[in-house]
Amino acid sequence: MGLKPPKGLKKCFRAFYNEITNRDVFSSGTVRDHYFEKRLFPDKVNVCVRHDVDIAIDLVLPLAEYEASWGISASYYFLTDTAPYRIWQSDIPRKLVELGHEVGLHSDHFYEQLALNRDGLARLREDIRKLSELCGKNISGVVWHGGKHLTPFKIRNYDLYKDIAPQRLNLDYHDAALYIPNTMKWAANELISDGENNLRFIPGKVRKTVKKMLPGQQLLFIGHPFMMFEQGFQHRMDYPNYPYLSPPNKRNFVMDLKSLVAYNKEYLGEKRTEKIKTLINWLEKTKIRYKCTQK
Ligand SMILES: [Zn+2]
Repeated sequence: MGLKPPKGLKKCFRAFYNEITNRDVFSSGTVRDHYFEKRLFPDKVNVCVRHDVDIAIDLVLPLAEYEASWGISASYYFLTDTAPYRIWQSDIPRKLVELGHEVGLHSDHFYEQLALNRDGLARLREDIRKLSELCGKNISGVVWHGGKHLTPFKIRNYDLYKDIAPQRLNLDYHDAALYIPNTMKWAANELISDGENNLRFIPGKVRKTVKKMLPGQQLLFIGHPFMMFEQGFQHRMDYPNYPYLSPPNKRNFVMDLKSLVAYNKEYLGEKRTEKIKTLINWLEKTKIRYKCTQK
């Protein structure tokens, strides 16, 4: 028997874990397992759980212990010098490895290069080495971090290393492993992502998606701990004093509707997508400022 879900975990994610712990149907693996080792089972639904730890490092251990208690191995990606937490003083990465999870790097290094005049690739290599030391085990992968702090530079952090073979960075994989070759489309039969609060309007999507998966298929789950928990949890955020770094935007109704469409066109279907787009246009025309009323 595993642990109870950590306090504050949103209902749709409780349902997700509830489903995937059924060992007869599901097999779970880290990003490394699925996308580098290709350890996939033809008679199981292959679930890969990825967490980008942008903020709220305090939520990581409760979630990781819960997952591990149910035999779920996930991949956790950490920011380094631009994080609102102090990773180099933390024992969390090492604990995650002990629990059987994967630890990887969440790259903000192109930002470092452009905003702070550093050599981004040298910094990336340095962090790969330091995070490996902190974990007591070589890390395998890096995935890029996005955010509004990059808007002034008009780049993605991925652009810094996307054309470099992971082996030249002392890694086994980077984001390209998770994409269909020559695209930035996720290489999975289904994706569940909490990106930008997009599940707010369709919490039932999580269970529906999990239920329709077939043996041999791949389900990729991407969850940011701070978005997987009920709002109202206040997180300590100590951002370094670098340009444009600040907490994520407070969400409002229209922003959430926009991300709903961005992430869920297929799930919503053409008709519903068009209706929501019309609603967004109308709301924007009214110029009313909608406060986020999410519970
Ligand atoms: Zn991120």
